[in-house]
Amino acid sequence: MKKKRFNVLTNVAIGFFAMFLLLLIERVGILYKGSNESVTLLPTDNVVHMKELPREKKCLLIINKDDATSKLIYPQYVQILTDMRVGFDTIDISEVKINKWQLSGNGTNYETVVIATSDYSAIGEDILVLTDWVKEGGRLLVGVTPVRSEIFDIIGPKLGIVEMGDELSVVNDFISDEDYMLGAGKTYYVDDAYESSLVVQLDSSAAVYAHTSDNTPLVWSYKYGAGKFVVCNFSYVSKAYRGIYSSAYTLLEDVFVYPVINASTFYLDDFPSPTPAGDGEYIKRDYGMGIAQFYSAVWWPKVLALGDKHNIPYTGLIIETYEDDTGEELPTNKSTADYYYYGNMLLNKGGEVGYHGYNHQPLCGPDYVYEDDIGYKVWESYTAMYNSLDELTKFSTGVFPGTELSVYVPPSDVLSPEGRQLIGDEFPGIKTIASIYFEGPDAYSQEYEVSEDGIVETPRIVSSCIIDDYMKLAAFSELNFHFVTSHFMHPDDLLDEDRGAAIGWKQLSQNLDDYMTWIDESAPDIRHLTGSGMAGAVQRFVNVIPKTQVEDKKVIITTKGLIDDVYYLIRVPEGGLISADGGKLKKLNGTLYLLDAYEDTVTITRE
Ligand SMILES: [Zn+2]
Repeated sequence: MKKKRFNVLTNVAIGFFAMFLLLLIERVGILYKGSNESVTLLPTDNVVHMKELPREKKCLLIINKDDATSKLIYPQYVQILTDMRVGFDTIDISEVKINKWQLSGNGTNYETVVIATSDYSAIGEDILVLTDWVKEGGRLLVGVTPVRSEIFDIIGPKLGIVEMGDELSVVNDFISDEDYMLGAGKTYYVDDAYESSLVVQLDSSAAVYAHTSDNTPLVWSYKYGAGKFVVCNFSYVSKAYRGIYSSAYTLLEDVFVYPVINASTFYLDDFPSPTPAGDGEYIKRDYGMGIAQFYSAVWWPKVLALGDKHNIPYTGLIIETYEDDTGEELPTNKSTADYYYYGNMLLNKGGEVGYHGYNHQPLCGPDYVYEDDIGYKVWESYTAMYNSLDELTKFSTGVFPGTELSVYVPPSDVLSPEGRQLIGDEFPGIKTIASIYFEGPDAYSQEYEVSEDGIVETPRIVSSCIIDDYMKLAAFSELNFHFVTSHFMHPDDLLDEDRGAAIGWKQLSQNLDDYMTWIDESAPDIRHLTGSGMAGAVQRFVNVIPKTQVEDKKVIITTKGLIDDVYYLIRVPEGGLISADGGKLKKLNGTLYLLDAYEDTVTITRE
């Protein structure tokens, strides 16, 4: 009897020892190999240019402050041209008339024009000044669906339009030609479809680059005289569709070069965090186990397997406690076993840990009023906010000694101006904030940029494992605009019906796998980076001021502000590129190339 009991105890001890050994092996990284791609986050003073535009203004952006569509599309084009580093002037046709002298006189000599209004009647007969300029060699983008008018009808044939319907047609989806955008060969569905494109019959010599599933042309180009028109017959004017407009712009020139971020990231919010006790309704239904067991036996192994399959180094964001204290005295979480277990596995897979919150209360001080009340509290004082981050950083560096934590993700993407200031002023260890790309109530919405205090803004674009049509289109758009993808999810998605709990993990993980596969197939060359790697990529992206010189047999790209290397996408609608000196060139599709430029001057040979 006694002996048997002793054996049981020995077995338990051996079991514990084996587990300890496993954890140790995990920590030193014997079992897993990490992703070998990394981009270092640089000290702030390396970044001296912030998307500075070349001095030469090569583009004229035409807007109309009296037109509602123009008001919406205008800020999108400003961001598109700025991020692609196209120097531009803006004129508002509600105030100024267009004349020849504006286009090529007065010291200016524009190469491109973008019409960012749907109302051509405001341009009046001056439209002929523009079309004549194209005939002479100018390049003009009809930047958003025009409304039919006497004036627009005059120029229709010059744009390649043979016939035009009176009504606009509903745009339900977007299909790119295989040789045009990345992620082509797939139908992207539009959210809240409405009548937004001209019904047209095009001349046979028009080159159609994108269309709807019922064959309405959405993007085409048409040669006119020595010049060229590109028409973007598309009118969804929000941030999620920028890549459609930016890609249309790239078709204007014979060779168009623009800097990109080249990064793909996956964030696991609230991970590691205290594992909820008890049962989740749908987890119990599908797996017959409690939440804690499900996380360790089902969810996490699957997430790791997907990371392996798609070569993804995850970035996990730590929550210290789910208690909702927002006072100045904050107790330290003493149970750290889960943090060691999950966090070290993540690190050993080449991943990274960052900060999310002491608890899940956003950094909003006592005077902050939530636009949308979803039950969040405010912190009692500035000191309380400070203490919460201070406690979190001490806790995290205690659990992961020797690991640099530089990424901060605001809880629920909410961060008050006061909280944002606090991070920049008091926490120099935080070098990048990964919040959200899209606007929403209380959301700390970002652009990819470096703020004045040196913090790198690295917004996330899509989230959860539902990945609806809107997100798919947004992901497609950003892949083509910034050559970037960014996704986040939470382990507790499985507890929340709004985030798909009822669908079940089997289907949700399949959706995630599908999204990762879409990235692999659409952009096999994109760099898979952690949150800090993404920030390093953004630092290099914002700092460059490129200049492109196109000649008969070659293209010369000169980069001011090159730190070590930077990536460019190059659109060549006709002909092609052969090789690069000073950079590495890769053909992505029939008209698009990726260039890794590592010299200030890169010379590319043309076909
Ligand atoms: Zn969270």
